[in-house]
Amino acid sequence: MNKIKVFRAFFLGLTLVIFSSCSVKKNGVVAHRGAWKTNNFPENSIASLRHAIDLKLAGSEFDVWRTADDSLVINHDAHYNKLLIEETNYEDLIKFKLSNGEKLPTLREYITEGKRNNKKTLLVCEIKPSEISKERGKKTALKAVETIKKLKADKITCYISFDYEILKQIRQVDPVTALQYLEGNKSPQEVKSDNISGIDYHYSVFQKHPEWIKEAKDNHITLNAWTVNDANIMDWIIENKFDYITTNEPELLNQRIKNKK
Ligand code: MG
Repeated sequence: MNKIKVFRAFFLGLTLVIFSSCSVKKNGVVAHRGAWKTNNFPENSIASLRHAIDLKLAGSEFDVWRTADDSLVINHDAHYNKLLIEETNYEDLIKFKLSNGEKLPTLREYITEGKRNNKKTLLVCEIKPSEISKERGKKTALKAVETIKKLKADKITCYISFDYEILKQIRQVDPVTALQYLEGNKSPQEVKSDNISGIDYHYSVFQKHPEWIKEAKDNHITLNAWTVNDANIMDWIIENKFDYITTNEPELLNQRIKNKK
């Protein structure tokens, strides 16, 4: 074999190694609002994120809102202790602790914890659509992306949203970050045409549109399903080899995945 052929073979081998290490492992378990259930942690707390990372899960999901005075905070509902987050200042929100004594986390605090001793867990960042205006939601998304980039966590973060405009806004400022659409009303080809790289739909959407599973795979659209807590539905999704499965029951899902092997 001459030298050129040896080099060619070497680079082909190298390319294959790089590509196979980039490919997403199937059936990655994503803890919905962190891994909170078994230890009775509050949802979306730092403790629930830490537990997801310690369990070495493929991902941990959380929800982002922006306060009236522009702080990004982690909470599921639009309200926190009966206060509408978007119309309340940060200082007034943190007067109330979470049930485990934690302060309402900011995005900065959450991501900082998410980077600590974390080799496996993707930070799945849901940007909540604004209850005030579409524009406000898009601005929240831009601020979240800016914060995550400043903390150098963009490589371990993906963004999800029910608001398609929010995802398109993120795509405008970041051509490569992973985006997954939540609403369940667009086909894989439709999202691909808008440069959205994944779909994360309620599992019932895939039961109604089983053809979207193959369509997503054929178009290299990441597949994720929420919120899969029932063992039979877990088994159905596992058999269909989704990239990710979002659940409130990560331990049970891990067990079901092991059973299938
Ligand atoms: Mg969420």
